[in-house]
Amino acid sequence: KESIKGRLLSLKSERVSAKDWNGTEFPWSDKLESTLKTVFKINEFRPFQRATMNAVLSKEDTILLMPTGGGKSLCYQLPSLVTDGFFLVVCPLVALMEDQIMALERNNICAYMLSQSTPKDENKKAMMAMTDKKAPMKLLYVTPERMSKSKTFMNKLQQAYQMGRLSCIAIDEVHCCSQWGHDFRPDYKYLGVLKNMFRGVPLLGLTATATTKILLDVQKILQIQGCLVLKSSFNRPNLFYEVRPKPSSQKEYLDEVEDLLKIKYRGKTGIIYTTTIKDTEETSNQLRDRGIKSVYYHATMDPILRSKAHTGWLDGKYQVVVATIAFGLGIDKPDVRFVLHQSLSKSMENFYQESGRAGRDGLPADCIVFYRLPDVFKVSITVFSQHLGLENLYGMVEYCIDIGSCRRSLIASHFDEVWESAECKGMCDHCKSPFQVNQINLQKHCLSLYKIIDHASDKDTKLTSQKLLEAWFNKGPTALRVPNAKSPSISQEKAEAIVAFLLISSFLREDFHYTAYSTLSYIKKGPRAIEVHDGEVLMDVRGVKVKSSSSTESPHTSAVKEGNGKGPSQKASSLRESLSKTENNSAVKSN
Ligand code: ADP
Ligand code: MG
Ligand code: ZN
Repeated sequence: KESIKGRLLSLKSERVSAKDWNGTEFPWSDKLESTLKTVFKINEFRPFQRATMNAVLSKEDTILLMPTGGGKSLCYQLPSLVTDGFFLVVCPLVALMEDQIMALERNNICAYMLSQSTPKDENKKAMMAMTDKKAPMKLLYVTPERMSKSKTFMNKLQQAYQMGRLSCIAIDEVHCCSQWGHDFRPDYKYLGVLKNMFRGVPLLGLTATATTKILLDVQKILQIQGCLVLKSSFNRPNLFYEVRPKPSSQKEYLDEVEDLLKIKYRGKTGIIYTTTIKDTEETSNQLRDRGIKSVYYHATMDPILRSKAHTGWLDGKYQVVVATIAFGLGIDKPDVRFVLHQSLSKSMENFYQESGRAGRDGLPADCIVFYRLPDVFKVSITVFSQHLGLENLYGMVEYCIDIGSCRRSLIASHFDEVWESAECKGMCDHCKSPFQVNQINLQKHCLSLYKIIDHASDKDTKLTSQKLLEAWFNKGPTALRVPNAKSPSISQEKAEAIVAFLLISSFLREDFHYTAYSTLSYIKKGPRAIEVHDGEVLMDVRGVKVKSSSSTESPHTSAVKEGNGKGPSQKASSLRESLSKTENNSAVKSN
């Protein structure tokens, strides 16, 4: 029975096939099957679980990439029961360890943890068990800090290793090693010593973060370059993806959210993500004023209140938690029915993780981003100094301003996966009600904007995006307007879309300045400004609604989708790609 649906990839070579690792002919195979049923009371493996266990038990260094809720923990818990020694599990949060240990105890599996909050006698028990051949301990959970800071512990671990009791080192949330991902934890860097220190002991890294960049970085840090990488598909078919234009006033925005919470999500629970701490408190209070059971959550609040907010939300006391990304690792509520983004995430990677907290029970759930251009700058001033900070943010902007592509295909391209838009089955706004995609040439608009920018720079003035837009429409300070310039005959919304597009395609760029109290983003000509005079600048715009006879699977609509399902990152960043897309679109039109 072939249960593996996703792909198996070995970055270095195609030295193994999915089938090899998924086999049931290994010496431990029977025991794995029976232990799964008798001890864990689970009937069958999910995709990639057996393959991972076989790899680890064959002493292969392995990284398992699997979306949240896929069942990664079982991949080290179960094999620990078929070896003589114990598995060391490095885990970033005490709360995560406690959850797992409680669940393991219910199944009568002996597991200990070592953390600052562990009582002394428990600590002692765990340390003794490491070097006691007769100890029943199968899993030992530690924080990365324990590994990097406690010499006593590392010494004990070496003894256990010499006795042959250390069967595997599992590193959960292994992306925390990499500075490029979310949740970077400096102490994870220390884990790079493990491979040399414990030769022959397989390392198993587990994460739901799947970009190649981070993956390669993690391998390098752990010194397991070219290790086996098992990757299951990251498509979450039950999630409905949507981007909505965010009203310009907070009141109108709240009206819309209130409607959603009181009608569509009545009796259902979810999360609203915001960019700043201030926003969490404000929005939550405003929703309360409107009679919604809301609570806020962020990193700098009193730990007791924070924990209360979390548990209150878990228990259904609150319909919604308004949170910063601090509400993240370890949030495990299966029936989250909606995740709303009040403004955009820092990156697609972040967005996937944040929105992915919805629908872990496999039932339908919504992931809605409220997008507005000014929010881009709210985020950009916080990320511009980070490595790849702006690049990542612009990836997110691209997702938001795309007007026709299947949202799934946009997400997939960030995981180096291809999700056919047909697989979306109408589970994103664009596939549900497709529009024809046309293109317009922005050259004239772009040159007008450059005139305004040049004019300002002649006057030694800097333009924020807002000032730029005002001057374009002949509004705002007269000194910034270009004399005799006609304001464009387009809506504010369209003008904002054009600025966003020019920004992420490098025809404009942001320029950051510190003031005493804040950081400001100004708009300048981008590195590709020189191309504008003698080239077209093509941007997709929404055409007429594609008529489809209720079904979204008509050949016509799928042609639209394919025309746009190509790598979005190239789309914004290369003119040629835009040009070639014209051909696709004309094919659609003649359809
Ligand atoms: P992840 O770490 O990948 O986010 P977990 O290890 O926390 O996921 O598992 C999520 C849930 O799935 C847990 O409740 C776990 O018991 C359950 N689970 C894991 N494997 C299976 C399986 N093969 N069949 C049914 N449920 C499973
Ligand atoms: Mg996990
Ligand atoms: Zn879609």
